[in-house]
Amino acid sequence: MSVTNKFDMDVTVTEHNHRNAYPIGHDNQHMNSTNKGFFIKTWVIFILLFIAITCIAGIAVFVGLFNPFQSCVCDNSTSLLSKCMNNQTNADNRCLSSLSRDCITDQTKVASLYASTNRQSVRLPKSIVPTHYEVQLQTYIGPQDFYFDGNVTIWLECRQSTDNITVHINDIVIYNESVYLLDDRKQQLPYISHFSHETKRQFFIIHLNTYLKHGKQYILQIKFKGNLNDDLSGFYRSSYKDSAGNKRWLAVTQFQPTDARRAFPCFDEPSMKATFAITLIHLHNYISISNMPKVNTEIRGEWVADTFAATVKMSTYLLAFLVSDFQSISHENGNFRVWSRVNAIETANYSLKVGPKLLKYYEDYFNISYPLPKMDMVAVPDLNAGAMENWGLIIYRETAMLYDETVSSSHNLQRVATVVAHELAHQWFGNLVTPKWWDDLWLNEGFASFMEYEGVDAVYPKWQMFQQFVVDEIQDVFELDCLTTSHPISVPVHNPDEINEIFDRISYGKGASIIRMMAYFLNRDTFRKGVSNYLNAWRYDNAVQDDLWNYLTLAVNNSLNVKKVMDSWTLQDGYPVVTLTRDYDNRKAWLTQKRFLLDVNNNQNNGSIDPSKYWWEIPITYTNQRNANWDPITKLWMTRSSAKHSKVFAIKDEDIPKNDEWIIANLQEVGYYRVNYDKTNWELITKQLMSDHNKIHVINRAQLIDDALDLSRAHLLDYHIGLNITQYLVNEKEFIAWESALNAFSFMDRMLRRSAAYGLWKAYILKIISNLYKEITWTVTEDSENILEKYLQISVIGWSCKYGYPHCTQQSMQLFNQWREYVENKQFKNPIHPNLRSIVYCTAIENGSEEDWNFLWNQFLNVSVASEKDKLLRSLACSREPWLLSRFMWRAFNGSSGIRKQDASYVFRSVATSNYGRDIAYNYLRDQWHHIVKYFGKSFFSFGSLVKSVTSSLNTDFDLKQLQEFYNSVKDNVGTAQRSFLQAIEQTKANVHWMQSHYQQIDNWLIKHNT
Ligand SMILES: [Zn+2]
Repeated sequence: MSVTNKFDMDVTVTEHNHRNAYPIGHDNQHMNSTNKGFFIKTWVIFILLFIAITCIAGIAVFVGLFNPFQSCVCDNSTSLLSKCMNNQTNADNRCLSSLSRDCITDQTKVASLYASTNRQSVRLPKSIVPTHYEVQLQTYIGPQDFYFDGNVTIWLECRQSTDNITVHINDIVIYNESVYLLDDRKQQLPYISHFSHETKRQFFIIHLNTYLKHGKQYILQIKFKGNLNDDLSGFYRSSYKDSAGNKRWLAVTQFQPTDARRAFPCFDEPSMKATFAITLIHLHNYISISNMPKVNTEIRGEWVADTFAATVKMSTYLLAFLVSDFQSISHENGNFRVWSRVNAIETANYSLKVGPKLLKYYEDYFNISYPLPKMDMVAVPDLNAGAMENWGLIIYRETAMLYDETVSSSHNLQRVATVVAHELAHQWFGNLVTPKWWDDLWLNEGFASFMEYEGVDAVYPKWQMFQQFVVDEIQDVFELDCLTTSHPISVPVHNPDEINEIFDRISYGKGASIIRMMAYFLNRDTFRKGVSNYLNAWRYDNAVQDDLWNYLTLAVNNSLNVKKVMDSWTLQDGYPVVTLTRDYDNRKAWLTQKRFLLDVNNNQNNGSIDPSKYWWEIPITYTNQRNANWDPITKLWMTRSSAKHSKVFAIKDEDIPKNDEWIIANLQEVGYYRVNYDKTNWELITKQLMSDHNKIHVINRAQLIDDALDLSRAHLLDYHIGLNITQYLVNEKEFIAWESALNAFSFMDRMLRRSAAYGLWKAYILKIISNLYKEITWTVTEDSENILEKYLQISVIGWSCKYGYPHCTQQSMQLFNQWREYVENKQFKNPIHPNLRSIVYCTAIENGSEEDWNFLWNQFLNVSVASEKDKLLRSLACSREPWLLSRFMWRAFNGSSGIRKQDASYVFRSVATSNYGRDIAYNYLRDQWHHIVKYFGKSFFSFGSLVKSVTSSLNTDFDLKQLQEFYNSVKDNVGTAQRSFLQAIEQTKANVHWMQSHYQQIDNWLIKHNT
């Protein structure tokens, strides 16, 4: 799956880029409450959630205050285990994570400890496994009723004698009298005794009066009925307006991770693979598609029954259906089609152009043909994820697949290419070979997130995808993974809420980052071979991360223990800072490592974590001024064995330059770590940047800025050194270095925005950026090749307008007024280039009137292109008028206003991070928390992002106190935002500490450098 969006937030003047965007993710599994049949009852859920949350909160406090696990070592882990076992599931994870961290060398033991704590497993028994399903669904798609009648026949194999058959269901009604058990010759067996339903585990259990025999085949038949819900999960309904303004309905699926069970009774676990034959029955005015090609169409009166070829062996979460009146266009080879609503189909051309190229690239890369006979990609109006990689039927939200060159920006273009690349990579990694359980989700998502860059890089070499990777993935996730409330990438998960919670930046961004690091230390070709062998060996099957490590170890002829290296990155949270210290008198240099924490002093004071307990196996790359070579070839390993007597590693004498020459480590930032240096080396680097920055690789320039400013932020480097480095930017013309700087400046902006130093801060930024602003024009070139130049143009204009550079504001107002005139004169061509629209709209709204706001709102209501709608929504948040922002917020959480439910959190975050909206958004969140939770449903993935966006600039003791009070008042009803609240509190503490320790110093520096 692809989370919603790195790019559809676009680059705007309010918050510069996606670093301040939060994944919306897939989400939203409301549980319908009803008294009939086997629906889950709301009160049961509330009680269970209440118990769970109370326990988690209790344990969190316990762990936070007393941290009994800090001193855990392998020898006494068994006794600590018993402590862990006395807690609830979530607490077990936390507890066991700390065990695994310290006992990292003994993973077998830890694994069995995990297994033994899972007291009431939510996993299905393994005694019965499905081999084939026939699923028939008759869909009733409005306008009043939304439901489906279903019929499933499941071929079963008995692996172990048992007296029950347990399947998953959720939110569907089973007709008990329609449940039959047959033998393999389809003779009915009189074995069924009674049925039971466990709502918490979503189990439907068929109890038998005899034991099924090991090795025998059986057939189970069930009739049922389900809702076409509006929760955007399971089999759900969506709608759009056609060109004549009529509302059209459709039905579509989103099953990952645990919602196939909302469409039909099934063994809904990724390792319970089977083949599926699907029949969809619908009225004449619809067409249907599924994972496989249609093989038969039968007319049944006013109904049409479409039957699809049986699938290959696959997991339930990858099934998909669509019943709609959509249109398609086909690639010339006929096997690749794209679909959308009729009035948007033209904008699907781009994805049809890029999709087949990427598919071909992956066939070559993995050295395995695409396993299915066809590929359909569909853009639907409502989807909680950015896109979903269903095998042979990929479903996207419109902004992730449709591209209209007259309306969409360069960011929109790249977003479509990367999301398509991401989902197509999953067709092998994830679909052909699937993780055994959701614990290994990170591997699936991390790998697809890495491959999206490989794929797009192959199609568009000039886009410099791996330059972008460094800023958009590594540096982005560094910011989250430096908190003590982060989590290891590989975490045990059990119930659906826990599974939903791990579709986060750690799984995607950190996953991709450590895979890229691995691809380099193995060498990219060896890496590719190992992956290809792994996919071949495990195809149509399920694997765990150790299986991949085995194949990669084989690919390097056992010259490296890949598991040992990678376990240190996947089983521990956080990442290291490597410190390089030079002894200039004796011409030596040493490396040490330590966990990088955002606010190390603060954390040591409350004793919650000891960074010295962590150890990573780090591939070190470096170069020096004399023989600068930026190829990231591993020069030495910081490994545990070689550190037996010392944790200090020496750089080879011949690699140490003269005293007045610099050393730089972590070339092209391929390693997932930061680097700090002694003061003299930092000064040598700064000198180089000031005199001729092109002597340093552009990715390392981006790295140096990011590292220097974040090391300063974390009290590991004098802020004067960090800020001094930024002065060279006056001469910098490369996007990626600027992007890295502007991201770091976003933090400073958030901290200083309400302080006396803000004027000086703005003046300094305008001073270093104005050279470039004067050089670049407002004219956007039309080629799509030099995308980084376009991004630079957007960033520079965006920040100049944000900080009120007069020419920028005037230009925006002029363009905006011209557009208003056009519209008033019924000329509907928008004179503003799509790349600059977010900036122009936002600047105009910030400096404009109520009429301007209403004009833009009406544009939002009338436009049908989703990416343009996003830009308009984002810009409406730029107003200075509190009442306009309040009204906007109210409209976001009111389904009839015209803002779709999938976009409500986007609006919230836009207001929360705008120049004037934070307090309004924060008040709304506190005041309306229960309404918001109700509006989305409790397991909505995005609560965390709401909390994060609105709290990221809190930095006073008073703010901290208020935040804690807010958390205490809602903590029984936080849904999936539990971790985000704890992270927000930690972040705020760090911000308060930052203001106390750095504000004066920065103010002094700014005074000095603005004169
Ligand atoms: Zn994915």
